[in-house]
Amino acid sequence: MSEKMLKFVNIGKKTPVKRSIEKRTEDFKEIYNRFAHDKAEEQSSRCSQCGVPFCQIHCPLQNNIPDWLKLTAEGRLQEANELAHSTNNMPEICGSICPQDRLCEGNCVIESAGHGTVTIGSVEKYIADTAWEKGWIKPIKISKEKKQSVGIIGAGPAGLACAEELRKLGYKITIYDRHDRSGGLLIYGIPNFKLEKITVERRTNLLKEGGIKFKQNFEVGRDLTLNQLKKKHDAILIATGVYKPREINLPGSDLKNIFPAMEFLTASNRKGLGEKVENFDNGMLNAENKDIVIIGGGDTGMDCVRTAVRQNAKSVKCLYRRDKENMPGSAREVNNAEEEGVEFLWLSNPKKFIGKSKISSVLVERMKLGKPDSSGRKKPEPVSNSEFEIKTDMVIKALGFDPEDLPKLFNCSDLSISRWGTIKIDFKTMETNLPGVFAAGDIVRGASLVVWAIRDGRDAAISIQKYLENKLNKNEIAA
Ligand SMILES: Cc1cc2nc3c(=O)[nH]c(=O)nc-3n(C[C@H](O)[C@H](O)[C@H](O)COP(=O)(O)OP(=O)(O)OC[C@H]3O[C@@H](n4cnc5c(N)ncnc54)[C@H](O)[C@@H]3O)c2cc1C
Ligand code: SF4
Repeated sequence: MSEKMLKFVNIGKKTPVKRSIEKRTEDFKEIYNRFAHDKAEEQSSRCSQCGVPFCQIHCPLQNNIPDWLKLTAEGRLQEANELAHSTNNMPEICGSICPQDRLCEGNCVIESAGHGTVTIGSVEKYIADTAWEKGWIKPIKISKEKKQSVGIIGAGPAGLACAEELRKLGYKITIYDRHDRSGGLLIYGIPNFKLEKITVERRTNLLKEGGIKFKQNFEVGRDLTLNQLKKKHDAILIATGVYKPREINLPGSDLKNIFPAMEFLTASNRKGLGEKVENFDNGMLNAENKDIVIIGGGDTGMDCVRTAVRQNAKSVKCLYRRDKENMPGSAREVNNAEEEGVEFLWLSNPKKFIGKSKISSVLVERMKLGKPDSSGRKKPEPVSNSEFEIKTDMVIKALGFDPEDLPKLFNCSDLSISRWGTIKIDFKTMETNLPGVFAAGDIVRGASLVVWAIRDGRDAAISIQKYLENKLNKNEIAA
């Protein structure tokens, strides 16, 4: 089919994505409603204390869910809070943004019996929010500071959790981060409407008050090499996350107004933090009144479509090459996006970006699912003569992230990485091939979840403590 012969296809209705200002200011409440505080005790009392805590087993932190539900149901919130904090450094954050349908709540026995899960995440958030409100959450106080110090590269959830655990033990901690704010993707990736940034800032301020030093705008590799940093500390944790966007190289990829997801989300988050963002203010990264196409069906794609809705886009379409059942994004997020008027084009793959200097449409081809590939997932295959065109003013690519080339960036060719570019560690100790250098979070697992990053940070802290104690003992014997 020639390009000229192709008609603009308007698939389905013109998407009604206009939202009133009141609706938008209610954004957080809309999500938070599920967590309504007055329902927390009622929800907690629904737990059947079934004896086989599948919820706990499927929580990466193995949170003692049945016990803190029981304490909440009995109104013993201070004890519930202590229990919640004994396994999780950021309960209110996990309670808000964990994909509970795939973790704790998805494995609730009541859910399996068809009666709807106990809203575990919401209760966890309620417990921690109440603790903040009542002043029960206090900065770390140590009786005696140890001489040994740990340098942590990356102030995302993995780095912050490890820092907190080690500081509680008395170690000197410095966190280095190349951004101006700490929090990693909690600040600049996850959108405001899912996570109030105040909750992240509150956490990092608490760590500062507890004596942890933060060096922002400090990029390891540029400001110091890894070896130079190693000389300043007794142990190092690398928790740098994954940031290299996966690319889609199509004809027309160099047209204007095609953006990687993180550029779009960071601009929106910076705006939400009250900053002046030139490329948002001049309209370039603002979806308002535009026809938006988002490529990719993962969680980042869902965050982009829902951010575009909140910026009052004229229409928002999401292209995904497999079907709804095989979409990687959380089912809950997809349903939310559908309710908000996002149009999903399942089994659709972009083939070409069309426009003069700016993008004006995307040529899309239909796909069908073939035989399973090596990963066991059915492989999408193009349907011949199925192309159609979609008009657009802005395309956002949300195809996932890969690790940056850390050995090169850190000027440390000795650091071992896997064939995917993630850092190789000994999974029992979280140590890399370089003695005294540990790694945790997305840079080890590949793009994952906040709750797993926290788990890794905590595990790394245990190993780093053992390493430092051994080092001290050896030094004492040698002296
Ligand atoms: C758009 C988006 C939405 C997401 N939504 C969710 C969600 O709803 N729920 C969920 O559980 N997970 C979500 N995730 C995943 C989650 O954010 C990550 O799994 C988690 O943040 C990983 O934590 P981390 O500490 O390993 O890395 P990060 O959070 O990425 O933090 C790494 C830090 O290292 C710093 N850094 C990198 N290189 C250097 C260097 N050379 N020198 C100094 N500092 C450096 C970075 O600036 C950053 O602050 C989302 C991810 C994205 C991209
Ligand atoms: S940390 Fe996440 S998975 Fe674990 S109980 Fe809380 S919400 Fe559920």
